[in-house]
Amino acid sequence: MIKQFDAYSLLNRNTFGIEAKAARFVEFSSTDALRAFLGTGFAGESLVIGGGSNLLFVGDFDGTVFHSAITDIEIVEETATDVLLRVGSGVNWDDLVAYTVEKGWYGLENLSLIPGEVGASAVQNVGAYGVEAGDLIEKVETIRIADVAACLFTKIDCDFAYRHSIFKDAEKGKHIVTYVTYRLKKAADFKLSYGNLKDKVDELGGATLANVRRAVCEIREAKLPNPAEIGSAGSFFMNPVVTAEKAAQLKDEYPAMPQYQLSDGNVKLSAGWLIEQCGWKQTPHSHVGVYKHQALVVVNLGGATGNEVLDFASAVVDSVKEKFGVCLNMEVNVIG
Ligand SMILES: Cc1cc2nc3c(=O)[nH]c(=O)nc-3n(C[C@H](O)[C@H](O)[C@H](O)COP(=O)(O)OP(=O)(O)OC[C@H]3O[C@@H](n4cnc5c(N)ncnc54)[C@H](O)[C@@H]3O)c2cc1C
Repeated sequence: MIKQFDAYSLLNRNTFGIEAKAARFVEFSSTDALRAFLGTGFAGESLVIGGGSNLLFVGDFDGTVFHSAITDIEIVEETATDVLLRVGSGVNWDDLVAYTVEKGWYGLENLSLIPGEVGASAVQNVGAYGVEAGDLIEKVETIRIADVAACLFTKIDCDFAYRHSIFKDAEKGKHIVTYVTYRLKKAADFKLSYGNLKDKVDELGGATLANVRRAVCEIREAKLPNPAEIGSAGSFFMNPVVTAEKAAQLKDEYPAMPQYQLSDGNVKLSAGWLIEQCGWKQTPHSHVGVYKHQALVVVNLGGATGNEVLDFASAVVDSVKEKFGVCLNMEVNVIG
């Protein structure tokens, strides 16, 4: 089935809570319906959205916004050790995580409570607490917009890296993800070394699937804004990566600076720490600021426009560049 609306408000379709209109909004509930719609000679600009939790609208979208309402979940293969789960792109991400935890299948638990939908998990390669969706993704099914072809991307084809996939690069804007297949495990292989996750899990009584999910949810709830209450898109900037030489120079000047050694010799810095050191927790700009518990999260303090958010973000970037000589890049997709 296809639902279509003209001059559609996207206010409730983006977690930043920014008002913007789409010339046309199209929601499809099956691959066949989507192909039939595109096959009638679709043309013009298009944008695919999921939960709108990584988007910043800086104006109206003068084209067609597509949204998946494909919500079926199917076991496509099961062995003594693994379960292959094919999931519709319109399934809410955290509902999927809760479902797999309930079933006793291991793999997604560290990714609890990330806003958004299944389709974007493959585009964004969502990650948290030492796990990325790409670690579990076996394949991604799409419809290519230009010729309505059904395409299949293996894990290798997807070219997953930190918050990166081929859908943000060579194939950007060309596909509508319809299904994602995840390989989950029937035996525990917990990843608890990130931050204070292990301590939290121990506090809850030890490592079980339910406890890991609960620990992740509690840590996130304490540190990140609830999109239902405060507008944001989560981490606004990516953690910057600098050379070992630059990292050593910064460490001399700022001994408390958190630094994470990468396997290629470079060093990852904490964007949140850099922003906090520039004083932004104390300095909101009209309708925009950073979240009180996490400076990496830019928040809509009420009624902000997309351009106000962008202006604020560029002031943050300039201050970090000036103080530390480090460039911050946006993680958020700016539209319009
Ligand atoms: C409070 C908060 C906390 C967050 N925490 C994390 C975190 O811990 N880790 C993390 O990685 N991210 C985090 N995010 C960011 C966000 O949740 C993820 O990027 C998520 O995957 C976005 O999903 P979405 O469905 O909302 O996608 P959208 O924001 O709607 O879209 C994101 C991108 O995916 C594309 N897209 C979406 N659906 C499809 C589809 N079906 N086919 C093709 N392209 C599609 C869009 O075109 C866009 O480029 C957080 C966000 C918030 C608000």
